[in-house]
Amino acid sequence: QVIFRDFLAKGAFPKESDMEVTESTIEVTSAVAEGSKGVLVKNLYLSCDPYMRGRMRKLTDPAESYIPSFQPGSPVTGLGVARVLESGHPNFKKGDLVWGLTGWEEYSLLPAPETCFKIEHTDVPLSYYTGLLGMPGLTAYGGFIELCSPKKGETVFISAASGAVGQLVGQLAKLFGCYVVGSAGSKEKVDLLKNKLGFDEAFNYKEESNLDAALKRYFPEGIDIYFENVGGKTLDVVLLNMKLHGRIAVCGMISQYNLEQPEGVHNLMQLIAKRVRMEGFNVLDYYHLYPKFLEMVLPPTKEGRIVYIEDTVEGLESGPTALVGLFSGRNVGKQVVLVAHE
Ligand code: NDP
Repeated sequence: QVIFRDFLAKGAFPKESDMEVTESTIEVTSAVAEGSKGVLVKNLYLSCDPYMRGRMRKLTDPAESYIPSFQPGSPVTGLGVARVLESGHPNFKKGDLVWGLTGWEEYSLLPAPETCFKIEHTDVPLSYYTGLLGMPGLTAYGGFIELCSPKKGETVFISAASGAVGQLVGQLAKLFGCYVVGSAGSKEKVDLLKNKLGFDEAFNYKEESNLDAALKRYFPEGIDIYFENVGGKTLDVVLLNMKLHGRIAVCGMISQYNLEQPEGVHNLMQLIAKRVRMEGFNVLDYYHLYPKFLEMVLPPTKEGRIVYIEDTVEGLESGPTALVGLFSGRNVGKQVVLVAHE
């Protein structure tokens, strides 16, 4: 098990020592008896996601968040892929593969896994259900396709572009015939964007002393769609470079999650001048579209027209390092923890 130790202060960077690897046993007993709705699963892959930072803070008002905080002294919970070992739930039977909310442990007892999906397609890597075919993939689909309604020939900019969400947004944009530029934090990531993920252009934002000049270089006529993953100064400069009637899908603002005070954004007047629509969204708004999403993404994935980069660490004990690494960009692609082979 990976236990969450204690709440982090506002502005604190998550550290490995905020979590602890321990051993314990699970009492199964009647929890999975018929009619109990409980399910015992063996966890195969666990997902490291930026929203988990938000679960490490103490909520003074539960309305502050759509998802509860971790409980100090209890296992970290998150999304994962698992095999059902015993089930008292009518929707799941022994042997099923599922993806959804589970614990950072070898085996988890899920009292009522209403947030688990049965995996129907197993002719793709199972780990994809933590990323490409799981929550991050659905995020890319919902935020880009449903919210931005892309059209052929439009110009698209994506920040944190090589990550779990960004790499699919870019490839969906290419499938729609858009011109796509991504930013990322290392040369290795930039090379992947250009040479493996099919982006038209990519740049290392850490090497651009003048982001405005960089955006003007790649988008001399402006940006139609900005897929926002980082927030802060990047958003401010992007606002100056939006086209008339541009759209901004506000997916996340990872550069702000560990700050005590969020940075100010000064260029919001651009929204008026350029009639730009900027809209935040939560992937939970799109869970009902999961079948439609799979229909769009599964065939090109199987044909190799969509590829997906994963960064896999082995063993539960590697989980804390992998999770905190998201906030310094250590991950190259979707960060996955392999807990057990099937
Ligand atoms: P990633 O796989 O992209 O991992 C996070 C990446 O963010 C890092 O690799 C790093 O890449 C970049 N990063 C970290 N710190 C900073 C910083 N200070 N400034 C700029 N970039 C930074 O994560 P995901 O693809 O899973 O998530 C991307 C975004 O989407 C996040 O903001 C997340 O919160 C959000 N999200 C929102 C959802 C929603 O429902 N709205 C659902 C899922 C995700 P690099 O090396 O390029 O800097």
